[in-house]
Amino acid sequence: MNEVLDALGKAQSALLELQQQHFELMNENRKLKDKLKKEERFDDYVLRETPVGGRYILELRSECITPDRPAHAICPLCREDGRLIVMSKNDTHHSCSKCRFSALHSRSQNKSLEELGNELG
Ligand SMILES: [Zn+2]
Repeated sequence: MNEVLDALGKAQSALLELQQQHFELMNENRKLKDKLKKEERFDDYVLRETPVGGRYILELRSECITPDRPAHAICPLCREDGRLIVMSKNDTHHSCSKCRFSALHSRSQNKSLEELGNELG
């Protein structure tokens, strides 16, 4: 009888251990799924060199552009930290509001006095 109880006790503790492992695996699985989902958001972006300035930004792929999702770029530095930060864009720079990374994309569009003079004749 003692042997039976002994075996039962062992089986019970083994079961408990398995349940604990199962719980931990489920937890880990959920965390990984969350992580994967977060990473998938970046699949729509492609690394591009800016036309001038030689810096890189992550641009939304052209096939992903829709009326609800206009063309934009996200910060490549923040992306490394898993953050998707849409960069603001002015005449000359893309810039990240989070980490202050900025990338020149075109020279100043302010015309030089000489050009203005030529246009005015
Ligand atoms: Zn940034």
